[in-house]
Amino acid sequence: MDYISPTQHAISGMNHSDTLSLSLELLQQPSVTPVDHTCQTIMADRLAKAGFHIEPMRFGDVDNLWARRGTEGPVFCFAGHTDVVPTGRLDAWNSDPFAPEIRDGKLYGRGSADMKTALAAMVVASERFVAKHPDHKGSIAFLITSDEEGPAVNGTVKVIETLEERNEKITWCLVGEPSSTSKLGDIVKNGRRGSLNGVLHVHGKQGHVAYPHLARNPIHEASAALAELCQTVWDNGNEYFPATSFQISNIHSGTGATNVIPGTLEVIFNFRYSTEVTAEQLKQRVHEILDKHGLQYEIDWNLSGLPFLTPVGELVNAAQTAILNVTGTETELSTSGGTSDGRFIAPTGAQVLELGVLNATIHQINEHVDVHDLDPLTDIYEQILENLLA
Ligand SMILES: [Zn+2]
Repeated sequence: MDYISPTQHAISGMNHSDTLSLSLELLQQPSVTPVDHTCQTIMADRLAKAGFHIEPMRFGDVDNLWARRGTEGPVFCFAGHTDVVPTGRLDAWNSDPFAPEIRDGKLYGRGSADMKTALAAMVVASERFVAKHPDHKGSIAFLITSDEEGPAVNGTVKVIETLEERNEKITWCLVGEPSSTSKLGDIVKNGRRGSLNGVLHVHGKQGHVAYPHLARNPIHEASAALAELCQTVWDNGNEYFPATSFQISNIHSGTGATNVIPGTLEVIFNFRYSTEVTAEQLKQRVHEILDKHGLQYEIDWNLSGLPFLTPVGELVNAAQTAILNVTGTETELSTSGGTSDGRFIAPTGAQVLELGVLNATIHQINEHVDVHDLDPLTDIYEQILENLLA
């Protein structure tokens, strides 16, 4: 296929692989979350030609795609998102974030690493696998959302609810999030920490700094309790998870005046937690510490992700073997990093892995990916299908 674009000069002379061509097509869509633009249509058209049954699932203002080839189990599912984070200042980019460009072997564009090149690799890998194995075992599926970078309310979680209602199960799920750190395939994520947010309001009594006996300073009263929260060891992690961490991200108090004791203090904090503790246990321990210090307070809790873990098994083995075959790299399992939509898929009992390109520039200005990683990633995805469904 001939690819024509304003950036043709930058990419002419390159031998366009299928994965690169499809990546360029997807990267040209300005799909800033939660807008899909036409990314899912582009993918669905290709998958339909490869024999997938296409089922668009729109919830609220979010486009989702469920595509499946086959009716039997086991079900291998590629999962991912077409939405991207906002570009940030356009004049800070060296090229238009939605006019992908290749310079010095790097493909630049918003979503190039997170995660449109992986989407392209998934489609091409599936096309090739299906051409070789038209009567493959089980089913291949795609679960694609445009609400991963946003509130994640009408995306993967709703598709999973729909699938659960009709008892449609995913056996193995490969999320194409950029998991690699310094070379392709060096890290796959086989789990994620849980994420628990709290907004703490500490109540004091506003007054004049010169008459502190008539006021109660919530900053002073909370200080010792906050120090204790920061110093507490919540657990020591385990074989798969680092120790649970507590971080304060915001503190607000005061009127701006130098002579007023404020009436309230607001503290926003987050736990990234391992499977050694539960959210309920963390809440209880926070309350114990605050109560011990005699604070007058309330906390709004928001559990934004349960921790999950896929131990070594069929999916991990299939991925490790494929990565070793294609790149020669011994991959490492990790549960570090932010949350992903894997948190919604794992609770159904599916084995979930995240495997994609390097994450060094995700969400940044001049986001890019090494163009030479696209075909090996496609080969890895195809070999994983071979290992599980051939
Ligand atoms: Zn992502």
